Amino acid sequence: MSRSGKQLVLVGGGHAHMVTLARIPEFIRRGVGVTVIGPSDYHYYSGMGPGMLGGTYTPDQVRFATRRMVEKGGGVFVKERAVGVDPGTQAVILSSGERIPYDVVSFNVGSHISQKILGPGARDVFPVKPIEGLMAARDRILALARSKRPIIGIVGGGPSSAEIAGNVRQLVRNRGGMLPIIYIVAGTRFMARFPDRVRDRVQGTLTAWEIDILEGCRVREVASGSMVLDNGRRLATDLVFLAQGVKPSSLFQDSGLATGPDQGLLVNPFLQSVDHPDIFGGGDCIHFKERPLTKVGVYAVRQNPVLFHNLLARLTGEALLPFDPGGDYLFIFNLGQGRGVLKKGWMELSGRLAFQIKDRIDRRFMERFQTLERP
Ligand SMILES: Cc1cc2nc3c(=O)[nH]c(=O)nc-3n(C[C@H](O)[C@H](O)[C@H](O)COP(=O)(O)OP(=O)(O)OC[C@H]3O[C@@H](n4cnc5c(N)ncnc54)[C@H](O)[C@@H]3O)c2cc1C
Repeated sequence: MSRSGKQLVLVGGGHAHMVTLARIPEFIRRGVGVTVIGPSDYHYYSGMGPGMLGGTYTPDQVRFATRRMVEKGGGVFVKERAVGVDPGTQAVILSSGERIPYDVVSFNVGSHISQKILGPGARDVFPVKPIEGLMAARDRILALARSKRPIIGIVGGGPSSAEIAGNVRQLVRNRGGMLPIIYIVAGTRFMARFPDRVRDRVQGTLTAWEIDILEGCRVREVASGSMVLDNGRRLATDLVFLAQGVKPSSLFQDSGLATGPDQGLLVNPFLQSVDHPDIFGGGDCIHFKERPLTKVGVYAVRQNPVLFHNLLARLTGEALLPFDPGGDYLFIFNLGQGRGVLKKGWMELSGRLAFQIKDRIDRRFMERFQTLERP
């Protein structure tokens, strides 16, 4: 990499980097080189992931062509995974051992699902992140449903479990296979962090479709062909989704940076590492010191303009802006079969209209950035 000008390195092309990626030419015009590191040429929009699983969207409709956008803007894309950062020498360390020097670096590497509960020989297990893994799950479910009534186990009782369950049912129903038996093992309580009325609407829709929600128990182990619960019960399964909650990668802790209790990069109101002012971050991989944020894409999306401004400001010596997480946000769950559950403040809605609103918002969001990546 040429070191003639200052270097900005973006690690991960996630939801919080969308605006910065789209505005790479503004860095280049100021003589700043931009390098983006990511394990794939594409970034998948999680909000539409369950819809892709259910066949409402094609993979092309739910992904951003990160490499194309970077190269079109005059940046360099490195298809690799970052495994560490060395703030002393100002370099990002890649899995190959290569070091990418930076003047300013920003991390948007998301979060992952722990696989600690996988027992020996467990197969056909799909974590709900990364989202691209849902494509392989879709193919496998369709293959199973051609010869039998597949039994699908879902570990975890949050909204992603609900969305996965409903969309697995939609997938098989629309593609003419044998309708699956679906179990959600929800832990203490299904959708526990949501108000009762929202929870009841989601639960009501899923149970009407004969999706079984087991509360008051956890999965102790995903074994070969079954899930073992902590109450000793064993449920036979053909395929399992892991959706028991996400965690930032250990990259920051392993690199000796200050982290929050969830091991996310500890950042101040400027989305800047509390002990290394040239390191920034956004999305699921940070721990916002002022006020811990729920791991939802809404915050990553809201961080975009502040992150863009602050990266440029740090490189050019201007003042940084604080990030304000804002108040209540709209959430809409896609439960499959054209139905959703919506909540914003006092307003709640379930059924077709809720899904249509989500579909429209998500398609618009994609269109806004996909237009920029076209040649
Ligand atoms: C099934 C499901 C549905 C969801 N639906 C919604 C929703 O409707 N609305 C909502 O607000 N939230 C939703 N969420 C939550 C949402 O997924 C996350 O909050 C959001 O993805 C966070 O965005 P992010 O950019 O931080 O991380 P990610 O979307 O995970 O993006 C991280 C990026 O970094 C790259 N990367 C990862 N590791 C490395 C590395 N080591 N080096 C370089 N690059 C790396 C990845 O390839 C990826 O492109 C959903 C989650 C799931 C699992």
